Formats: sequence, C-alpha cells, structure tokens
Amino acid sequence: MTVKGSLVVVSGFSGVGKGSVMKSLISRYEGYALSVSATTREPRPGEVEGREYFFISRDEFLEMIENDELVEYASYCDNYYGTPRRFVTQKLEQGQDVLLEIEIQGALKIKKQFPEALLIFIMPPSVDELMNRLLSRGTESEEAICKRIERAVEEAGGIEDYDYIYINDRIDDCADRMNELIRAQRNRTSRNSRFIEEIRQQISHYKSEYSTNNSEQES
Ligand code: 5GP
Repeated sequence: MTVKGSLVVVSGFSGVGKGSVMKSLISRYEGYALSVSATTREPRPGEVEGREYFFISRDEFLEMIENDELVEYASYCDNYYGTPRRFVTQKLEQGQDVLLEIEIQGALKIKKQFPEALLIFIMPPSVDELMNRLLSRGTESEEAICKRIERAVEEAGGIEDYDYIYINDRIDDCADRMNELIRAQRNRTSRNSRFIEEIRQQISHYKSEYSTNNSEQES
C-alpha cells in the first residue's frame, strides 16, 4: 500500500542555511523530492538553471500564474518566486515527501490549500551567527542585504504560524532531526485511513465468527 507523501514547507531567515540543510536531507535519506521554484531573480554565481531555480522573466512568471501552473507564489525583495504545481502533485502521488523551501507568505498559502502540510521554521543558533553568515556570503549588494534583514524582521513576527522550529547548529544534525519528524508523519491516523479500515473490518469479522462458534458450542 503506497501512502501519499508529506508536503513539507521549510522556511527561515535569509542566511540561516536552509539550502544546506535541504541538501543534507536529500543526499543522505531516500524518498525526498525537493521542489525547484521558478523565480524572476538573477542567478547567483554558481547557480544552475533547473537545479537551484528555473530563472524566468517577469512575463513568463505572470503567464505561469495565469495558467494556474503554480501552487503558490510570492514577491520577496522585488522578485517573484513560485512553486510549480505539476512536480508537487506527481511526487506526492508517488509517495515521496516533497520539500518546499519557501518564504512565509507562500508557506501560509500552502497551509490553507493543504492543511496537513508540515511547516518547519529553521532558526539560527544566534542572531550574531545569522548576520555573519548573511554578510560573509558575499553574493548580495548592500541594498539587497538591507532588504533581506528588513524581511527577516517581518518573518520573525510569523514564526508561530509554523508547526515546528529547528535550530541549524550543525547542518547534518539539523537534517537528521527534521528527517525523524517528517518520517513520523507517515504514521498519522489521517494518512492511514485505508489500513485502519481494513484492520477494523477484520476485527469485526473475527468477532462475529467467534461469537457464532461460541453460541454453537453452548447450545
Ligand atoms: P533566495 O533569493 O535567497 O534564493 O530566496 C529568497 C527567499 O525566497 C527565500 O526565503 C526562499 O525560501 C524563498 N523562495 C524560494 N522559492 C520560493 C517559492 O517558490 N515560493 C515562495 N513563496 N518563496 C520562495
């Protein structure tokens, strides 16, 4: 029996290391599918089309919205980001756990559409550490960094909308802890209705056979 996969939303402040935690999770554990988003932002050095993102123009993005090809989308620091629908639907049907690394507006839209989605917010070990990571990345202009810090302040206000927080102290440890949580979702009663119903019917059947046999013996 294939249980449908879990939809897992992972958010966190810019620079917290969400991407590294996701990489650790998918490279060391089976059964995960990481959704690749579409974005209108420019690729950073080293980013590859179709691996980190599908880099598209604003017009192409608007067309995807128009054609209902995105499960959710949001604007973040002057660019659009969105999750392509087809990949998510296919992988969930195949029983894979689908990871969406997205920001908070998108996370809330997912929660509305998929109430069973698991929302995880990755926290830095400390704010000093976060700022170090964000500033030492060296890929953003000062203006872009300022916008990302402003955005972090907004996101900090919404953390309680998530189901769990995990601290990214060490990448692999954080991924291990998240893996346990995600895998436990497979045991949710709501995800196992068919199996529960089968056991229920078998017990009822057993009960009626047992009471028939007993009453025959008594008479
Ligand atoms: P970055 O430019 O650093 O790659 O991403 C900026 C922010 O956009 C991050 O918080 C990232 O999680 C978020 N993001 C990436 N893809 C998506 C998406 O498809 N939808 C939404 N809502 N946010 C996304």
